[in-house]
Amino acid sequence: MTTLITNIGSLLTNDPELGTLTDAAIVLDGDQVAWVGAAAAAPDADERVDAEARAVIPGFVDSHSHMVFGGDRTAEFNARMSGKPYTAGGIRTTVAATRASSDEALERNLRRFIGEMLRQGTTTVEVKSGYGLTVEDEARALRIAAAHTPETTYLGAHVVAPEFADDPAAYVDLVTGPMLDACAPYARYVDVFCERGAFDGDQARAVLTAGAARGLTPRVHANQLTEGPGVQLAVELGAASADHCTHLSDADVKALADAHATTVATLLPGAEFSTRAVYPDARRLIDAGATVALSTDCNPGSSFTSSMPFCIAVAVRDMGMTPDEAVVAATLGGARALRRTDVGHLAVGARADLVLLDAPSHVHLAYRPGVPLVSAVWQGGARVC
Ligand SMILES: [Zn+2]
Repeated sequence: MTTLITNIGSLLTNDPELGTLTDAAIVLDGDQVAWVGAAAAAPDADERVDAEARAVIPGFVDSHSHMVFGGDRTAEFNARMSGKPYTAGGIRTTVAATRASSDEALERNLRRFIGEMLRQGTTTVEVKSGYGLTVEDEARALRIAAAHTPETTYLGAHVVAPEFADDPAAYVDLVTGPMLDACAPYARYVDVFCERGAFDGDQARAVLTAGAARGLTPRVHANQLTEGPGVQLAVELGAASADHCTHLSDADVKALADAHATTVATLLPGAEFSTRAVYPDARRLIDAGATVALSTDCNPGSSFTSSMPFCIAVAVRDMGMTPDEAVVAATLGGARALRRTDVGHLAVGARADLVLLDAPSHVHLAYRPGVPLVSAVWQGGARVC
């Protein structure tokens, strides 16, 4: 089954040779892109779609989310936005609700968010564990996630489990021992929240090296709330990404620039938006030469958005990115953060994941914030929205 999408006003390929094409067409064959070029030269196909001079982009690659959870945190958000002090219930509130949820309820929730993402153009998504914090609950979260995406991340080291509040070292032993054994079969990556109040540099190193020894690729929640060792550790261990990167020293920026081919700086503006915090400085990272990705961080506490277009608009408005840079970061950047070469771009042989926008250009994703511009979505060559 082949599909020709033609009369494309603007086709963002993210391919260094093709660039952005006008008056373009693309042919999908099975789950791959089979042809890209000028509409006038396009071959025939079984099915023909007229893009009506609108824009086509690669499907978004959302490389950081926490979508296996129970309950929500509406009251906490409402209190925070009402200027009231809120207690450090935080992640632990969601841990309790997640442990109390049935497998079916967790899966229903995950499906709902993946569906939301698809309708907003996200065709690849990473999902983390981290709201179970017991051997059984972490393995359960990853088993459920792995049924819906190959991009799963073991985050037993999200926070110290409440049962281990007085003995964090014992919790790190659990995370690097029996919990890792139970989770590794369902995970591709290992992650740790390296932050004051979560895990320090030594603990984070122990978690990441134990995961790497089991074949999991490291990624790090780094430098979100304060400057700390997270970014340097990510770079030193060859992590696929250092995520958040909100508070960076000059040495951190240089380390990410030097590691641009290995470790992606993944920026998560939904977190700063939802906590009224200062945004990361994307301009500083890009100008230094770092590879940057944008992602939603979709989670019930600090960033309850599933929308990549929203993140693009914020990144352009408040983080110094150009519209081109933001859309590339949300597609190719995310693919690089997941070490995927088949998604995030549109060239012959790439996976046929693409989005038709109700706009003449991908710039409209930032130019028209909050407007539902996703008109159609193909995932693996099949039209899904
Ligand atoms: Zn996160």
